[in-house]
Amino acid sequence: AKIVPSDIEISQASPLQPIADIAEAAGILKEEMIPYGENKLKVKDVRERLQDQKDGNYVVVTAINPTPLGEGKSTTLVGLSQALGAHLDKKVFTCMRQPSQGPTFGIKGGAAGGGYSQVIPMEEFNLHLTGDIHAITAANNLCAAAIDARMFHESTQKDSPLFNRLCPKGKDGKRSFVPVMLKRLKKLGIDKEDPDELTDEEKKRFARLDIDPDTITWQRVLDTNDRMLRKITVGQGVAEKGRTRETGFDITVASEIMAVLALTTSLQDMRERLGNMVVAHSKAGDPITTDDLGLGGALTVLMKDAIWPTLMQTIEKTPVFVHAGPFANIAHGNSSVICDQMALKLVGEDGYVVTEAGFGSDIGFEKFCNIKCKYSGLKPNCAVLVVTIRALKSHGGASKVTPGKSIPKEYSEENLDFVREGAKIMQKHIENVGKFGIPCVVCLNKFTSDFDSEIELVLQIAKESGAFDAQLSNHWADGGAGAVDLANSVISACESTKEENKFNFLYKSDASIVEKMETIAREIYGADGIEIEEEAKKQIEVYTKNGWDSLPICMAKTHLSLTSDPSKKGVQSGFKIPIKSIRASVGAGFLYPLCGDIMTIPGLPTRPGFYDVDIDIDTGKIQGLF
Ligand code: ADP
Repeated sequence: AKIVPSDIEISQASPLQPIADIAEAAGILKEEMIPYGENKLKVKDVRERLQDQKDGNYVVVTAINPTPLGEGKSTTLVGLSQALGAHLDKKVFTCMRQPSQGPTFGIKGGAAGGGYSQVIPMEEFNLHLTGDIHAITAANNLCAAAIDARMFHESTQKDSPLFNRLCPKGKDGKRSFVPVMLKRLKKLGIDKEDPDELTDEEKKRFARLDIDPDTITWQRVLDTNDRMLRKITVGQGVAEKGRTRETGFDITVASEIMAVLALTTSLQDMRERLGNMVVAHSKAGDPITTDDLGLGGALTVLMKDAIWPTLMQTIEKTPVFVHAGPFANIAHGNSSVICDQMALKLVGEDGYVVTEAGFGSDIGFEKFCNIKCKYSGLKPNCAVLVVTIRALKSHGGASKVTPGKSIPKEYSEENLDFVREGAKIMQKHIENVGKFGIPCVVCLNKFTSDFDSEIELVLQIAKESGAFDAQLSNHWADGGAGAVDLANSVISACESTKEENKFNFLYKSDASIVEKMETIAREIYGADGIEIEEEAKKQIEVYTKNGWDSLPICMAKTHLSLTSDPSKKGVQSGFKIPIKSIRASVGAGFLYPLCGDIMTIPGLPTRPGFYDVDIDIDTGKIQGLF
């Protein structure tokens, strides 16, 4: 078999086209480009200029429940794009998430694809990029600082000085409200614009947010797998006079601000969402928003450049938008609405936009349909379901695959029984895609350890189980040339929806919170229903009272199993999904129930990936980044 070098070796050996040339070829105008060095640029809005252009075909790549090693979804996304763009002469755009630096140095490595199907330069893709994740960290932590500082000042000041400091006298000796304060006054039902006209009682209601510390849901974030920050105590400095509080850190990509970036449709919409995020409740039980804290404008300013996607290229010089990167288990796991909308206009009616939904169809794809498409108004034409013999074997009885350990021998031996048993989970995922009314093309991502007999069996079962088509794809070893059959099937699948696209949501917006969770659990996971714990019951009551029950649901569940237990492989029956608690991302626009213990910041393993990473001092080249 052909020897395929490491991802970073392939990436560094691939010649790069000047990124402005890639942009120009993709139909982007000079004045829409914001350069960030030679290999990346941000692209300003093209949607208005191209408003008369019809959208291209919209393809979403999903997978069966993976092993912890990943099954090559990003690799397939890139390989398929290369086949469409560089081999079948279609206009194409790939839309990808920006990876979190946490996993890059932890267990999983980068997320630019792999083998000869990669976004290049992979080092730039995986590290820093154009600073969007850093902007989110800055915005998120400004908000965290604002909450604690506000509680501190409210606890040290009496009503009148508190109000006077919030609305200081200007040069003319008069106090005035800034616009974000007028929004709060309106919310409080105080119809006055001059601070001096407020009664003492109104001044107090305006100035005292009276945050109940036990209800604060806003955490600090950083983009490092730092397990020791999962639970911390803040306020231990002398100047804080004993006002300590337990809180914690999440990974940056779990921040609600990341979800806002991924779901927003315009600067104005982002301003509204960033101001509507609910960070806590008051002692009286009212939700407290970022705009109550006066923050929405400042957060938007920090995020103003992050709103535009970054353009990069694949090894075969097709264009890629990298934008937003919410985790798929605790957030909705999809790249941004804006980059998909821009790409669909840029490729035009006969072109293809290929995007990826994190983890399996039970997680990222369900959220792609019910959350992302709800906010974007876009309809996918087809889904690609990535399957590997490795993952099928792991669901069909072979021993566990553990990151950092060598892969058990069973995975390199022919075993049709494991594959046949494991294929049941593929059938369930094909069924899941079908529930959203779009065709499902199965892509068997070829590994060198696969046997012909196993491959044949998987393709046959897929075709008999309602897939539109099933293809073996060798894009990891051969680049786009290895994915031409897959690309042709995708083209046919998209054509089949041209007359009528039957895409549908799984549940109605006006269904209750419980009904929505039940529907996802039963229809997508194959569960017998849900089990709602006490805390979650109380939250459902509060959220419904607040009018948040119309929001879509973003289940926070393990990606390694269709159930909430990562050790349960294959298709299970007779189980329920526990709903421990429910968090509200009101600005981003979803509720996320926690199904089991979901880690919101990963930790580093004993032997993290960073051991391999170094720099060649003479050439400046990065080594060992997978
Ligand atoms: P996912 O998106 O499903 O998490 P990735 O596409 O990031 O998975 O791939 C995970 C790793 O597996 C990458 O390092 C990639 O190079 C490798 N990989 C993907 N497909 C293959 C394949 N067919 N053969 C060998 N390695 C592969």
